[in-house]
Amino acid sequence: MKKFMPFILCAILCISSQSFGQKQKKYALDWLSQPEVVEDFGEISDQIWGFAELGLREFKSSALLIETLEKEGFSIEKDLAGMPTCFVATYGSGEPVIGILAEYDALPMISQTARTPEQDALVEGAPGHGCGHNLMGTAATAAAIATKKAMEEYGLKGTIKVFGSPAEEMLISRPYMVRAGLFEGVDAVINNHTSSSFGTRYGVSGNAMISVIYSFTGKTAHSAGSPWSGRSALDAVELMNISTNFLREHLFYTHRMHYVIPEGGEAPNVVPDKASVWYFIRNTDERMEDMYDRVMNCAKGAALASGTELSEVRVMAAAHQQHENQSLAEIMDANIQEIGMPEWTEEEQEFAKALQKSLEKEEKGMPAEPEKIKLPAETFVGGGSSDHGDVTLVAPTATIVFPGVVPGAIGHHWSTVTCNYGSLAWKGLNTGAKAMAATAIDLLTKPKDLQKVKDEFAAYSKEHPYKPFLPEDAVPPLDINESLMNKYAPLMEKMMNQR
Ligand SMILES: [Zn+2]
Repeated sequence: MKKFMPFILCAILCISSQSFGQKQKKYALDWLSQPEVVEDFGEISDQIWGFAELGLREFKSSALLIETLEKEGFSIEKDLAGMPTCFVATYGSGEPVIGILAEYDALPMISQTARTPEQDALVEGAPGHGCGHNLMGTAATAAAIATKKAMEEYGLKGTIKVFGSPAEEMLISRPYMVRAGLFEGVDAVINNHTSSSFGTRYGVSGNAMISVIYSFTGKTAHSAGSPWSGRSALDAVELMNISTNFLREHLFYTHRMHYVIPEGGEAPNVVPDKASVWYFIRNTDERMEDMYDRVMNCAKGAALASGTELSEVRVMAAAHQQHENQSLAEIMDANIQEIGMPEWTEEEQEFAKALQKSLEKEEKGMPAEPEKIKLPAETFVGGGSSDHGDVTLVAPTATIVFPGVVPGAIGHHWSTVTCNYGSLAWKGLNTGAKAMAATAIDLLTKPKDLQKVKDEFAAYSKEHPYKPFLPEDAVPPLDINESLMNKYAPLMEKMMNQR
């Protein structure tokens, strides 16, 4: 009998450790499934959709999420890392510390009425939620509250933190938040994004990016009377752009580079003494700094050639590629497969098909099944960037993508704005919240699984130590969207109040 004791003991412990977590998970998921809970968070998300606040101007959006978390007993730290709309909401104490990332900024110029399959601006030229960050901030909040309810009910130890992250669309906040030490002591981070599917991935993806404004100062003059006494700052911008466009041929194919000219003079008959050009410079982590130096040389060369001065180089954001943790993604995947897709109503399917028709895409409606976990791509598929890349290098992180966007809708476009409001979006955000809460509870209740996540990260970090691309003197550009929001916020408020 004696020799069977360890076996019996192990059997009891193994069964209890396996089922440990399950009842807590069920409790959180049941709470999230209640129709009034779906509706409450849906309405919060719809309100943020209506605010459509651009990066670093998300005053109402962040306040609404803070208020929701505060009511549930989370303690709040606001105005962090030099950004008034950045916050951390904390519940519980001690280890493990599980983080959930929340975003809430909109994009310029893509205003659209909700659930309308043709382009129809709510307010012409105004911002809109064309990336679903209204759903994501709310889903993160809902997941944290559901996790907290289970922690309270079952006396679970540990800490849950919501990282309110402004200005993701401009890739601004996370490198500053990392620099401010906000992720120190965090054991694992759950990121989320809207999608037309429900799934997760791991490995390296996206591109690193540096967002930088080059400003030139010249000498003004009468463009016809005495042009020889002037030195055009606009000439410097144009020469810089010519140089960078020639540079493209000799950059490795992983690069992306694009620019706009925010300042280029006011009238042709006045030689502009001030001009600036705003670049997004993108490449892999390994090639980023070399490419940045070469673009800088184009700016210096342009100043020399035009007889102007390169008066300011303002780096606003600098983010790494995303290095997502496989062990964490596998925990997420198991939860995603278990939770499954929401059931879509006929009306939701009809809207999806009408939008697909209007976009000349296959009219297949909403998907019925979650996606299988995505393996790392064998060849480079870069392109876009996300500033949570820096977080992935300081704490084990992976991303849950949750449904809410009609397949075929285009990102950063009115066709996505139109999806992100109302019942279809609410179901998506609720599904995402469930997957996040279930993952957080796994991490709180299964120390071995969490240890595996942390061990993988520790080994990876040795090969990829974190070195920020953000220059030490960079500060968040708080003014960047001020005038646009001052212009559109009252107009959008009026439209939303009429609904
Ligand atoms: Zn996004």
